[in-house]
Amino acid sequence: MTKDANLEKITALAKRRGFIFPSSEIYGGLANVYDFGPLGAELKNNIKQLWWDRFVHKRDDIVGLDSSIFMNSKVWEASGHVSSFTDPLIECKHCHSRFRTDALPHENLKQCPHCGEKEGFSEPKQFNLMFKTHIGATEEESNDVYLRPETAQAIFINFKNILDTTRKAIPFGVAQMGKAFRNEITTGYFIFRMLEFEQMEIEYFIHEKDWERFFDHWKEEIITWAIEVGISKDNLRFREHDEKERSHYSKRTVDLEYNFMGDFKEIYGLAYRGNYDLAKHKLMYVDQQSNEQFIPHVIEPSFGVERTILPILLDAYHEEEKRIVLKLKPRIAPYKTAVFPLVQNKEEIVTKAQSVHQNLVALGIYSAWDARGNIGKRYLSQDEIGTPYCITIDYDTLKDNTVTVRDRDTTQQERIKIDQLQEYLMPKII
Ligand code: ATP
Repeated sequence: MTKDANLEKITALAKRRGFIFPSSEIYGGLANVYDFGPLGAELKNNIKQLWWDRFVHKRDDIVGLDSSIFMNSKVWEASGHVSSFTDPLIECKHCHSRFRTDALPHENLKQCPHCGEKEGFSEPKQFNLMFKTHIGATEEESNDVYLRPETAQAIFINFKNILDTTRKAIPFGVAQMGKAFRNEITTGYFIFRMLEFEQMEIEYFIHEKDWERFFDHWKEEIITWAIEVGISKDNLRFREHDEKERSHYSKRTVDLEYNFMGDFKEIYGLAYRGNYDLAKHKLMYVDQQSNEQFIPHVIEPSFGVERTILPILLDAYHEEEKRIVLKLKPRIAPYKTAVFPLVQNKEEIVTKAQSVHQNLVALGIYSAWDARGNIGKRYLSQDEIGTPYCITIDYDTLKDNTVTVRDRDTTQQERIKIDQLQEYLMPKII
């Protein structure tokens, strides 16, 4: 099976099982915008929680921020986004469709991918990617606001607030995750390039002399995270930006790329931004011990949530002889367990199964409940959404208080005592 076919299968599975729906579908859709369904919402939340846990809770040198999406427009003027957060676009002289110059295949330099005509394209024009709207009833320029195109900028403008309210000293980081918006012209496959997406970003503030050491540290951290969350190491590579590609303030940028159908594309970015942003916002740092005043430098690891989900789904998807199985890491799987009463018409079995199910949920082990159809079909249904363990309550349970626990990946079954379930499951799912 080609990877292309794999992408189609993932897209279909995501829709069929309630992971990801095209937006506004009943009104004909909205290109490059997607909704996360019941299982997609769980998967996404699990990834975000894991990220927060790893980079905020488990590290004493990083604190979190949850800023608003709207900010004073002066923020984006100072940061350079109003003048230069742009893509070069060319327009087909025949149908007027616009394309990013770097997105056109070389052989298509004359032919429009949209209408197929060969009339050629206009000279490239810079097109700003920020969505603009306005606050209040009048459309005066002074009321203009932008939907943030990245979460990072709010970290810089809160730098002083964070220093004043925490006991952090350099080196330290601030993490934030949330929605970002970009008026992308080039369409991407499935959820790779969206107009509205989520980022998880860290600004790690350092002394200039330490930048190389921390850059290497974060390079290691981002790939370790990607592998831990379930992306196959074999499909990942780093790509160093050359001088032409790098933003003028960046001294070094590296992308972590994933092999999408033979085409390596950025999933995460790592940039050494010097002290560009804090300098632009006129923010300083005073060392409490030496009283030295300086503008800290910053290393920025930037992770896309949807660009985490797509590779995870592609790598987790397996077709076996008799089943489709999503081999998701248990920690991020929407359900950790599914509980089945063997039959629906024996009250004691259903009641027992309900109590096992409720107890698991109370322990924080999110569990699915399924009482319909034969057990084989129920297993297949859970395999397809990546539930690591299925627990069946049967006639023997009523005699000896044991249940059958079936492992998603091996399909092996074990008999476990109900009062030992927690001990059995916990190390496997966290
Ligand atoms: P690209 O070159 O693919 O447009 P970028 O270099 O503009 O990406 P950054 O500005 O570095 O991306 O954004 C940081 C991260 O945010 C990216 O690594 C990616 O994970 C995510 N991201 C950026 N744009 C999008 C988008 N349109 N849809 C989904 N995720 C995105």
